[in-house]
Amino acid sequence: MTESYDVAVIGLGAMGSASLWQFARRGLRVVGIDRFSPPHDQGSTHGETRITRQAIGEGASYVPLALRSHEIWREVEAQTGECLLFEVGGLTISHAGQSDTPKRHGNFLTQAINAAERYGIAHEVLTPADIRQRYPQFRPETDELGLFEPGAGYLLAEKCVAANLGLARAAGADLKLSTVVRGLEPGNMGIRLDTDRGSLVAQKLIVAAGPWAPALLGEPFTSILTPTRQLMHWLNFDPEWKADWTTSPVFMWLHEDTRKGFFYGFPSRDGTTIKCADEIGTSRIDPDAMQREIRPAAQANFVASHLEGRLQGIAGVSTSVSCIYTETPDSHFLIDWHPKLENCLVVSPCSGHGFKHAAAIGEAVAQLLTDGRSNINLIPFALGRFGLQGE
Ligand SMILES: Cc1cc2nc3c(=O)[nH]c(=O)nc-3n(C[C@H](O)[C@H](O)[C@H](O)COP(=O)(O)OP(=O)(O)OC[C@H]3O[C@@H](n4cnc5c(N)ncnc54)[C@H](O)[C@@H]3O)c2cc1C
Repeated sequence: MTESYDVAVIGLGAMGSASLWQFARRGLRVVGIDRFSPPHDQGSTHGETRITRQAIGEGASYVPLALRSHEIWREVEAQTGECLLFEVGGLTISHAGQSDTPKRHGNFLTQAINAAERYGIAHEVLTPADIRQRYPQFRPETDELGLFEPGAGYLLAEKCVAANLGLARAAGADLKLSTVVRGLEPGNMGIRLDTDRGSLVAQKLIVAAGPWAPALLGEPFTSILTPTRQLMHWLNFDPEWKADWTTSPVFMWLHEDTRKGFFYGFPSRDGTTIKCADEIGTSRIDPDAMQREIRPAAQANFVASHLEGRLQGIAGVSTSVSCIYTETPDSHFLIDWHPKLENCLVVSPCSGHGFKHAAAIGEAVAQLLTDGRSNINLIPFALGRFGLQGE
């Protein structure tokens, strides 16, 4: 007998694990399938930490997701006893008069301030002198400004996934791990999922396959979604800067009017290193064949391009890790029905800024599939903006 489910979730990273729990807690017969055993370090959800903020510079349509996500992460913490969300504050530094750029960082600071004002999110605008006095580890230029958001901070990415999966399992979800979905076929009984361990049928399907989504879904997704290789670096700092780096807010720095002039970082969690990263990978990669090791030249280039003259006390790169973005042409999310496969919702290519929204996305897609509508508007993330229509 082929196993049959109300809902199947393919991919149990940030998006899939959050969705799985939301379906399970609603009492649906749900199965989650993953080619690995999440949390793992092969996709988009590893490297310990992810920045979260609510005054979203990428656009106001993300704010309700970020606000709701913080509430849900606190609920997950209460149910699991895990500490997942650290509201250590967040500082965004940018040139005051930064103009529009084609990518998502265009007008970032202005949009973030507007979002904070519109949604009543606590924030302060800081001068370079304010920043240097309060956070001496940062050396902004005289024409730069800071937006400080006290409720921003970071999430522990792998722990969030593990917590979601634990809650989903406890609520009755089936998990099929180390199982690769090879094909999807519509049929009279529902959508048939062919895996390397047999087939199953689901009435509705969530595809949250991250960088593997284009290969699994085919067109139009292969044209719209581009997996790119990104690097994260852990940097040693001089012991005299320990107090500053361990109590630091998370930070984002837009020092040039292009995506190349952007980097971000975290406070030290181990007392000896801070994690920093940028977003320079643009070429399409195959997640199964991506070069995982990092050349010393890439590390040196990162330090020279971003850190020198801006961060105080940095003593060099300790280690680096690669990770994968799945990007859309406009760097915004894609959450919509598959245009050719009925009852299949594509949820996940989140262009490098999705983690903070994952908890609310999981809830919204569960509402959409069970009630026909979600409390949070997902229309801004639809295929229509690329001239395509979801089912
Ligand atoms: C370096 C880096 C830094 C980032 N920083 C931030 C940040 O600070 N703040 C923020 O909000 N966001 C950040 N992001 C973005 C965020 O991490 C991602 O948007 C999010 O993790 C994507 O999760 P996902 O579930 O879509 O993908 P993934 O976590 O990759 O999950 C996809 C899952 O699908 C499984 N899968 C794929 N194909 C199949 C198949 N055929 N069969 C079975 N299973 C399959 C995979 O094994 C995988 O577990 C960052 C991303 C990166 C790479």
